[in-house]
Amino acid sequence: MKIFINKDSNYYRPVLYSLALIENNQEIQFEYVDISTSADIVIDHNHTESEVIATAFYDQLGDRKPELQYHKVFSKPQLICNQNGLVDLLATIFYMVNCLQEYTATSNGLDQYGRITYASSYQNQYQSVEKNLVQEYIELWLAQHQISFQSEKSKVFLSHDIDSLHTAVIPISVQVIRQIPPLDLLQILVQKLLGRPNIESLNQVMKINDEHDIQSTFFWLMNKGIGQHSIPNADYRFDPKYLALTRNRNNANALHKSSHTTTLDQEFDAAKFDSPANRYHYLAHQPLRDWQVISDSQIELDASLGYAEKMGFRNSYGQAFQPFNLNQNQPYDFVEVPLHIMDTTFERYQQMDPKTISDEIIDFIDRNKFNCTLSILWHNQHFNKYDIGPYLHIYKEILGYLFEEQIKHTTPQEIIQKRKLKWIRS
Ligand SMILES: [Zn+2]
Repeated sequence: MKIFINKDSNYYRPVLYSLALIENNQEIQFEYVDISTSADIVIDHNHTESEVIATAFYDQLGDRKPELQYHKVFSKPQLICNQNGLVDLLATIFYMVNCLQEYTATSNGLDQYGRITYASSYQNQYQSVEKNLVQEYIELWLAQHQISFQSEKSKVFLSHDIDSLHTAVIPISVQVIRQIPPLDLLQILVQKLLGRPNIESLNQVMKINDEHDIQSTFFWLMNKGIGQHSIPNADYRFDPKYLALTRNRNNANALHKSSHTTTLDQEFDAAKFDSPANRYHYLAHQPLRDWQVISDSQIELDASLGYAEKMGFRNSYGQAFQPFNLNQNQPYDFVEVPLHIMDTTFERYQQMDPKTISDEIIDFIDRNKFNCTLSILWHNQHFNKYDIGPYLHIYKEILGYLFEEQIKHTTPQEIIQKRKLKWIRS
């Protein structure tokens, strides 16, 4: 497929980016030509045979203060159009994948931790947060150009943020205490009295994961105590020997950036992580501000992009991707793997009846078992030797489903390798 794009336009690089994303999604390669007459697809507003180009949208991108709120950008529901009302799929893909609806977020759209709220999003407006819309638009664009579409089985990026090693479930009810052998109970009490961290929760995570033939990434906090925005950081003092514990059983370790004035690099250098990966604690970050910070650091993969209060696709795309840097007119040099499913969404934010949660999650995974890197976060606090608490049961049900469906896990290294864009053209 030969493509010509007008290089002297303000849409050249954004269009090239959306096409690079399609190439990456489909593992194909387009041929770019310098003369429009030899092209199968022409993207040039001066050309009568050109694809639809939403020029007003691209003009906004180049503005010093772009107006990118979704109700200004969409002229049809969740679609960007040209002045004649014709849909520009490549512009829509560019807008959604790069979270540009958040570009002009005001304090109204932010919560107490400075995070964008689901309530302020177009996904809330159109009830589309569980839809992989960008994938649909990619398929539609390919169909419009008679290019066959290849589907790929989804993989799972499973992870555990280690916020706490002291509050891991300690049995409290008499009924539960009766089930525990007296020696174990004594050990728990001694451990609690001495203030020792509950490493056992990590062993339990790995035991359950091993039983389901799945490996995960552990995100570690380097700072203890209360951080910015009154966010509590770790309740433990980090010890490098924790990393050996998980690494020796084939799991990956990465940084869980604390809410603190220390920089990403300072925290990343504080331990010998095996993956150059990060997730912000409380997901407390703003993509269009912090993507530059990540890019300026050693981090090559970030896993923070999710709505804390809602399961689903924050940028309407199921795959990991390299975000686009509007200031430099090229992709950032790291890969973002969005977060889709998190235990605390249901526990803290939605306070759902635990009985219905696993059905809801498994149904979401089932609808997205193709063309996604599904990112799941389950905190270690739920894991203990005595199989207590609904969130441990929910976790086991999810892993049981993944095992049955043969949905395999992936690692930070594999995601980085697979999702780096081919971006060599000028
Ligand atoms: Zn955390």
